[in-house]
Amino acid sequence: MGDLSGPSLLEAVEALGLSELGRSALGRPIWGRRFGGPGVPLLIIGGIHGDEPSSVEALLDLAVRLAASGDPPPLFLIPVANPDGIARGAKNSARDVDLNRNFPARSFAAAHAPGYFPGPAPLSEPETRLVAELVDREGVRGAVAVHAPLACINYDGPAAAWAGAVAAACGWPARGDIGYPTPGSFGSWLGLDRGLPILTIELPPGPLEPFRQSAADALDAAVAHAPGAASVADPPDK
Ligand SMILES: [Zn+2]
Repeated sequence: MGDLSGPSLLEAVEALGLSELGRSALGRPIWGRRFGGPGVPLLIIGGIHGDEPSSVEALLDLAVRLAASGDPPPLFLIPVANPDGIARGAKNSARDVDLNRNFPARSFAAAHAPGYFPGPAPLSEPETRLVAELVDREGVRGAVAVHAPLACINYDGPAAAWAGAVAAACGWPARGDIGYPTPGSFGSWLGLDRGLPILTIELPPGPLEPFRQSAADALDAAVAHAPGAASVADPPDK
């Protein structure tokens, strides 16, 4: 895919029918698209950390499959939540905020380790505000955040069975605990505070190519087994 902030991303955006949902701190567009019919969507986001471009590529691949699919379940896809970070190849946003510490979770903490600046306050950053406003406007039945490089399916909230189905599809283990605290994270906000099923799909390290198929298997299983998807697909009662 090459430069994910440049022409190749723009080509993908056009081809996939993504539209601009808002702008980053430096004014880069944040693209997204709703797939499927009416119903409360699943939310899928990648590129929260700019040094994890495989997450973006895997979600653009998913968008290609969803666009080709006749009847995808309702879901909202944001492949690049931190376009400034992706453009610089750096984990944090242009304001040097770790966006996955800036969500309005009860665990939000101003104290932080070097490199994990959570921002001056929850939702102080335009990138996280965009996600939070979308959640409030659309509602979500669950969410998937794609990261790297731990090669596992981490979960928060009531998502153990969902994580197990995804782990079985891709071969990376399901883990209820990532092994370190994540105050102010997307998962702790929606999973722990709001009780929604949340998956964090951690891809292996490095470029997507060697594990492109496993990533596709993981994401397809995440969509297929997401809570609420089956009932949406059922015909309405007459
Ligand atoms: Zn990450």
